[in-house]
Amino acid sequence: MLFSELGLIPPLMSAVAAEGYTEPTPIQVRAIPHVLAGRDLLGLAQTGTGKTAAFALPILQRLTEKANGAARQRPIRCLVLTPTRELASQIGESFTTYGKNLTLRNTVIFGGVGMDAQKQALRSGMDILVATPGRLLDLMGQGLVDLRPLEVFVLDEADRMLDMGFIHDVKKVIAKLPHVRQTLFFSATMPREAQDLADQLLKNPETVAVKPPATTAEKVDQEVFFVEKTDKRALLQEILQDQAMKRVLVFSRTKHGANRIADHLVKVQIEAEAIHGNKSQGARERALAGFKSGRVRVLVATDIAARGIDVDSVTHVVNFDVPEVPETYVHRIGRTARAGASGMAITFCEVDERGDLRAIEKLTRQEIPVVEGHPYESKVPHSANPPRLSAREKERNSDREGRPPPGRGRGDRGRGGGGGGRRGGGGGGGGGRGRGPARPHSA
Ligand code: AMP
Repeated sequence: MLFSELGLIPPLMSAVAAEGYTEPTPIQVRAIPHVLAGRDLLGLAQTGTGKTAAFALPILQRLTEKANGAARQRPIRCLVLTPTRELASQIGESFTTYGKNLTLRNTVIFGGVGMDAQKQALRSGMDILVATPGRLLDLMGQGLVDLRPLEVFVLDEADRMLDMGFIHDVKKVIAKLPHVRQTLFFSATMPREAQDLADQLLKNPETVAVKPPATTAEKVDQEVFFVEKTDKRALLQEILQDQAMKRVLVFSRTKHGANRIADHLVKVQIEAEAIHGNKSQGARERALAGFKSGRVRVLVATDIAARGIDVDSVTHVVNFDVPEVPETYVHRIGRTARAGASGMAITFCEVDERGDLRAIEKLTRQEIPVVEGHPYESKVPHSANPPRLSAREKERNSDREGRPPPGRGRGDRGRGGGGGGRRGGGGGGGGGRGRGPARPHSA
C-alpha cells in the first residue's frame, strides 16, 4: 500500500516522503481513510505503531480543505490531549513536520514550565493545540482558551491518562467541547474505565486495532548474553567500551534498578541518565533533551517512561532485564532501527530469565544468537533449561540485586579474556560492536 492510495494531498505526501517513510504502517492504512471521511475513531494502538501520523496527517488535510480564510484570529480547530509533556512535544513536532508544506499552525502547552510563552502563543492563535490536561485547565480558567470552534478532538493514550489519575481533568476539558465535532480516541489497552470514557465521547465510531509492530523484530540485529544477575552492571560497562554504541537506550524493570544502573555508569565516567515516573518533569525533560542532543550517551528507562520516548537513531537497545511479557520485548527493541535505520538489541539474561527468553523467541519466531566467551558469562550451561519463575519469585530474587550472596564476593571470578563468539548465527552485528578485552575487576 502506498501513501498516495490513502487519498492524501500532495503537500502531505511530500512531507512524509521527506521523512523517509516509504509506505504507511497498518494503523495508518486503516485509520487515515476513516479520519479523512470525518468519522469518529477508536484506535487501539501503542506508541511506536505510527499512530501519531495516523491522526495528524488526515487532520492536517481536513483542516486545510475546510480552511477558514475569513477568520482573522485563528480559532482552535483541533485539540489533542495527551498525558505527558514528552508526548505533547513529540506530537507537536509531528504536526510541524507533516504540515511543513501547509499554512496551519500548532502550539504545545504543558505543565512544569512558565506560563508566559504559552499564554502569548494562545493569544496569537493557532489551528491545532496539543496539551496536557492540567495546564490546559489552568489556562482555560484564565479565559485564554476557547474551545467552542473546535472541529476535531483527539484523546491520546487514554489508558495512560487514566493510570496517571487525570480522569477528572480530562472530564472537565470534555465538558467544554462542542457537541458537534469529530473525536479520535487512542488507547493501547481498554480497561473498563477507558471503555466508559470512549462510550461517552465517540459517536458511531470505526474501531481500528493494530498489534504491536512485531515485524520490527526482523529489522533489528539481536543478541543475548547469559550472565549472572550480579554481573549485569559490569557487563554493561564492558560492552559500552565499544564507541559504536553511540545512543543507547537501556531498559530496566524497576525505577530503582534504573537509578542504580545510571549511577553506576556515571561513576565510571559514562554519560548516563535515568528516566522514570519518580523523576520530576523537568528532570525527565532534561534527560531526554540530553539524549536527543547526544550529550547523554546512555538513557536508562522503565517501560512506562519509555512509552513516550521517540528518539530517532537510537543505535542500541539494551534489555538489562528480560521482560516478562514477550510483546514488551518487541516494543523495546522497536526503539532502535527506526525509519529504515539499522539497529541492535542486546539482552542480558540471567538464569531465572531464560524461560522468559524462550517465550520471546516463540513470539518472534526467531532464535536470538547467544554471545559466548564473554568475560561475565554465566556458569550455568546454555543448554540448562531452568523453569519459568513466577513474578513473585522473581521479585524475591530481585530484592537481592546489588548484594551478592554470602561467599561470592565481587572479585573472585578468574575470568578469561574477551573475544566472544556466537551460537546461532544470523544477526550480522549491524551495530558494529566489537568486543573489547576483559577489564580487570577490583574486589
Ligand atoms: P508513533 O507510533 O506515532 O509514536 O510513531 C513511531 C515512529 O514511527 C516515529 O518515529 C515516526 O517518525 C515513525 N513513523 C511513523 N509512520 C511511519 C511510516 N509510515 N514509515 C516509517 N516510519 C514511520
